[in-house]
Amino acid sequence: MLNIKKNYVFNNFFNSKMKFISLIIIYFINIVLITSCAKKDLIKDNSNKPFVLTTFTILADLATNVAGERLLVRSITKPGSEIHGYQFTPSDIVRSKGAELIIENGLGLESWISQFLNSAGDIPKVKLTEGIKVLAIEGDVYAGKPNPHAWMSPKRAMHYVDKLVEAFIMIDPEGELEYKSNASAYKSKLEILDEELRNSLSLIPKDRRVLVTCEGAFSYLAHDYGMEEAYLWPVNAESQVTPKRMINLIEKIKENDVPTIFCESTVSSKAQKEVAKVTGANFGGIFYVDSLSGRDGPAPTLIDLHKHNLRLISEGLSVNSIKD
Ligand SMILES: [Zn+2]
Repeated sequence: MLNIKKNYVFNNFFNSKMKFISLIIIYFINIVLITSCAKKDLIKDNSNKPFVLTTFTILADLATNVAGERLLVRSITKPGSEIHGYQFTPSDIVRSKGAELIIENGLGLESWISQFLNSAGDIPKVKLTEGIKVLAIEGDVYAGKPNPHAWMSPKRAMHYVDKLVEAFIMIDPEGELEYKSNASAYKSKLEILDEELRNSLSLIPKDRRVLVTCEGAFSYLAHDYGMEEAYLWPVNAESQVTPKRMINLIEKIKENDVPTIFCESTVSSKAQKEVAKVTGANFGGIFYVDSLSGRDGPAPTLIDLHKHNLRLISEGLSVNSIKD
């Protein structure tokens, strides 16, 4: 009887000990499996995918939409950066190491790109505006030079998408079908945006369709969507505001009785607010043009950027908006 009890106690102890040991073994097997999977994912993310760099956040958004999961896409400049005269840093150069492609806008937008490439080494480059129908800057000292902001018209952003597909197939031919299918899905979204812009802007009375901004970055949008454009300076550069430019803009606003004027996120709005004060126009807020906002901001993607700008334009120029 005592033996049976002993055996029972021993068996019980043995069973619970075995259970405990098995649990520990299962636990360690799980840990090993989870870490090896995570490691695999990490390796896949960091090593297997070709890595491409864009000069600014808007191109990174377009590139990510075309690349899907096949490529790692990074932007040299961060959200909110001024991109025309950007001064790259040694850490930008370090972060470009291993890039298979540099994606730029071209048309003189990135004045720093040649110097960047001199420092970064021999990285192939693709210019997304190559072959696009260009609008020239009118008047001022930049007269005749191409306006670089072609991505601001959704119709023309489709050209950027096609160029990205070509470039990605060059560096990753096996991804052709995926790139083409991603591009066509994204172009459908641009088509919807194009229609939304056309419909909403057509609701603004014709004599109010004057878009007054800081930089002349809306030429393509204005041209393709039936608006007139006026600005404080043609291209973001040094010596932006001059008395002559300011006086010209004030006259234009008064002549057209423009109810609301705007400025952009990457430049100071101080001079434009001064113009608003002098003319009695409302200051209608900050557009996103040369850079996306951060993820929590109003313009984390190009499509969000247009929706944000469109909301400000519609509110500022509608029949209900009256001068102060
Ligand atoms: Zn610009």
